[in-house]
Amino acid sequence: MPLREDAVLSTMQDVPLTVTRLLVHGVQVHGRSQIITWTGEDEPQRRSFAEAGTRAVQLAGALRDKLGVRGDDRVATLMWNNAEHVEAYFAIPAMGAVLHTLNLRLPADQLAWIVNHAADKVIIVNGSLIPLLAPLLSKLPTVEHIVVSGPGDRTPLAGGTARVHEYEDLIAGRPTTYDWPEIDELRAAAMCYTSGTTGDPKGVVYSHRSIYLHSMQLNMTESMGLTDQDVSLVVVPQFHVNAWGLPHAAFMTGINMLMPDRFLQPAPLAEMIERVRPTHAAAVPTIWQGLLAELTARPREVSSLAQVTIGGAACPPSLMEAFDALGMRVCHAWGMTETSPLGTVARPPAHAVGTDEEFAYRLTQGRFPAGVEARLTGPGGERLPWDGESAGELEVRGPWIAGAYYNGPDAEPLRPADKFSEDGWLKTGDVGIISPEGFLTLTDRAKDVIKSGGEWISSVELENALMAHPDVAEAAVVAVPDEKWGERPLATVVLREGANSDFQALRAFLTEEGHIARWQLPERWTVIESVPKTSVGKFDKKVLRRRYAEGTLDVTQL
Ligand code: AMP
Repeated sequence: MPLREDAVLSTMQDVPLTVTRLLVHGVQVHGRSQIITWTGEDEPQRRSFAEAGTRAVQLAGALRDKLGVRGDDRVATLMWNNAEHVEAYFAIPAMGAVLHTLNLRLPADQLAWIVNHAADKVIIVNGSLIPLLAPLLSKLPTVEHIVVSGPGDRTPLAGGTARVHEYEDLIAGRPTTYDWPEIDELRAAAMCYTSGTTGDPKGVVYSHRSIYLHSMQLNMTESMGLTDQDVSLVVVPQFHVNAWGLPHAAFMTGINMLMPDRFLQPAPLAEMIERVRPTHAAAVPTIWQGLLAELTARPREVSSLAQVTIGGAACPPSLMEAFDALGMRVCHAWGMTETSPLGTVARPPAHAVGTDEEFAYRLTQGRFPAGVEARLTGPGGERLPWDGESAGELEVRGPWIAGAYYNGPDAEPLRPADKFSEDGWLKTGDVGIISPEGFLTLTDRAKDVIKSGGEWISSVELENALMAHPDVAEAAVVAVPDEKWGERPLATVVLREGANSDFQALRAFLTEEGHIARWQLPERWTVIESVPKTSVGKFDKKVLRRRYAEGTLDVTQL
């Protein structure tokens, strides 16, 4: 809108919102806060924000002076959650380059595809991950330097064209100041590829501004509300949407971070909770299901964990109840790689606190913050009301929501029509309802919903009801073709140790305890060893659908 000549101009300063600012602030004001990295030995490694900040300065200097990183060169990390990874998180964007976090659980060919698509120049790798990286190197022509940090055999890296450096040698004795450049807040700071369950992975590029604003939102009481009195156990990987933004938010408010490094199995997680006594933790439900089984088998003192953020997949009610009973209060949240990821957080509204309604509110995906606008779109493209009943695809927009995907150097950003609306909103692919108060309840992924005889059956609802049965450790429900109804649900069940499969009893349980309507009950059942998982620990339903189609599942028809 053109300004009138006599328009009132704002008198505020125009200061860019940058990751550099977060780094400088974290060091100056929260220098005593700590990054505690689990080592598997007697004592964890403890490093203050001040120390990590100085090392970030030294890293930036080494990347520029020794490795020739310039402009928006991409510097990738193939690392666990640890102090060095946090240093890279700040050094790379602050010097103007782009941090590219690589998902260490991806199949090798996808990893190579992503490195080449981003044209990464440097990869910082943890020594324990060299066996993953070394066989790929000959297929990564843009990678000029490998920087290795932490224990692990280096010899597989020898003989390639990329030069190999030791992280500690690289930064040792370097100057402890860096003249950080003035950066336009809209410039790229970090990138992360979606896990690519269909088609090629897609690159989401976060700006300095989006990271800064997202950090402010994460720190609000309505979101995680943590302070420098908290210790957050950051289980969610730093390669999965920037560990949900926790490291950035931590430097803003001084939250101490407990980093599990490669010790992500239930037993070491339980041990680090008991020994370091974090007050907060964040991870996907599958991690917590594993921890729950561990705590049931070998109880530990875990009551320090006053708040556990669960997101990335729907939190089963049974998990929330079990955690509540252990004194670990679950806070459910929804988000995506494309949404930085914070989209909604399930804090019950004041009127529900202490009432019978409270639990139901906590089970929703949560309420939208002011920075996230949301709308629901029906199958015919029509806008649906926030009435708590009309189900449609969720679309969102806001300053930390992607408006396009990265399309490689020198190419135009990608805006596929199935991902972005014509007016620029992100189509999430999630189907749900929104209450008049702005609480989102997801019923399914658009591609997972079961379309039976013209009606929709929510696979998530069936899974949650099944997982509430004492014999069931995990359950995944997928749509399978059916001659009469088009699609019907197939229940795949992982039984607890010592339990027997009695599908009739499970079916009865679904109606009696789960309140599932009769027409929605699965007639096809099978027991599986474990639910296949994606690279970020979510149920991989396409594997189950494929196994059913191939006839490799032993299915009982009731
Ligand atoms: P990703 O980009 O890998 O983090 O995956 C994002 C997707 O995870 C979303 O589009 C949802 O389908 C799913 N998701 C994330 N959080 C939740 C949640 N709390 N409940 C249900 N699904 C979720």
